[in-house]
Amino acid sequence: MPNPRGRDHAQPVLTIVGLGAAGASLAWRLLDAGVPFEVVEVPAGAPERSPERTWSTWGPDGPGPFGPLVSASWPRIRVVGRDGGVVTADLGSWRYRSLHSTVLDRAVRRRLERAGVAVHERVLTGPPPAPAVDTRPVPVPATGRTLLRQHFLGYRLRTARPVFDVRTATLMDFRTPQPAGGVAFGYVLPTSPTEALVEYTEFSEHLLTPAQYAEKLGEYLQRSGIGAHEVLSTETGVIPMTDAVFPASGLPGVLRWGAGAGSVRPSTGYSFSTLQRQADALAAQLPGPLTLPPPHRRRHLLMDSVVLQGLADGRLGDGFFVNLFRRNPVHRVLGFLDGTTTPAQDLALMATAPRAAMLAAVAARALPR
Ligand SMILES: Cc1cc2nc3c(=O)[nH]c(=O)nc-3n(C[C@H](O)[C@H](O)[C@H](O)COP(=O)(O)OP(=O)(O)OC[C@H]3O[C@@H](n4cnc5c(N)ncnc54)[C@H](O)[C@@H]3O)c2cc1C
Repeated sequence: MPNPRGRDHAQPVLTIVGLGAAGASLAWRLLDAGVPFEVVEVPAGAPERSPERTWSTWGPDGPGPFGPLVSASWPRIRVVGRDGGVVTADLGSWRYRSLHSTVLDRAVRRRLERAGVAVHERVLTGPPPAPAVDTRPVPVPATGRTLLRQHFLGYRLRTARPVFDVRTATLMDFRTPQPAGGVAFGYVLPTSPTEALVEYTEFSEHLLTPAQYAEKLGEYLQRSGIGAHEVLSTETGVIPMTDAVFPASGLPGVLRWGAGAGSVRPSTGYSFSTLQRQADALAAQLPGPLTLPPPHRRRHLLMDSVVLQGLADGRLGDGFFVNLFRRNPVHRVLGFLDGTTTPAQDLALMATAPRAAMLAAVAARALPR
């Protein structure tokens, strides 16, 4: 068939299904490497399309090749205890960074267009044509011991007077009512003295109603004393936090990847930097057959499983997170949460965790479900 663009394109060696965090990350590398591929993505506005979101990561650079697309970064983070005690940590050469999904989407689509890569706008219902990397979301398998959800409502807001410290990201502020079986906290990413993304987040089993999220976020904003403000936009999300194992596609030549393949770290709900590591490894395997690099180390999954259990049964709560940051160098904690710590660093970190609660959670894990 003649090429409608009149350009000579090689036959695609791969179909990427989904152009979210995973799909866009792989597409970016394949464009760099000149590997021919095609994309299938849901048309804008269709209910299957993943909603816009802000991806945060941390580290010395990146995330992956997307450093230039980062919309905001912070050299300091803080965690606030229920009693108002503050742990502030200077990140040195590291940064906490945010990248908005619309920015990545625009950038990758521009590159795809320029390279003449076909983006088929449709809702794929069956299996993709092999070879393919399928990043469509899947239901959470019921095989885990613990399933919590990280669920939140966030407002991008503008205040009437300058109230935010633009150098500091508040990762967890526990001055919110705490749910039974889980934790709740405020999360604040300021982008100017008068603008910030402020979220009310829970790690817990049950979702709230829209009115309950609004009420809890409203309470947190009032308690924060930011005063008069207008809401510019909202962000909501539900991220499963589970120790379940996500099954492979089971189809020859079809690699399932992304949140639907266990890339989300169970104890944090984060996956963006893991996806960058996996995208590098996958791109390096092409044009050969693809094998999914394990998203997380086994010992980290084991530790996460214990933490999830402890959160779910109420043995671990806000104090666990505050002490983690209070009793450890910040790079050790962030490294652990990102899966980059060594066994020695993990041991040092665990030595600062409340021993009785952790042992009880380990014991509970050992019991039959
Ligand atoms: C609101 C929210 C905020 C998050 N924030 C962070 C964060 O700050 N840091 C972090 O590390 N992680 C974060 N996560 C977790 C995780 O990184 C994201 O969920 C990430 O987007 C997962 O990437 P993915 O490619 O697997 O899925 P998605 O990004 O959801 O991509 C899946 C793609 O498949 C497409 N698709 C779906 N169905 C079909 C179909 N039938 N046919 C074709 N295409 C289809 C979708 O439109 C989408 O583009 C967040 C998650 C949520 C929900």
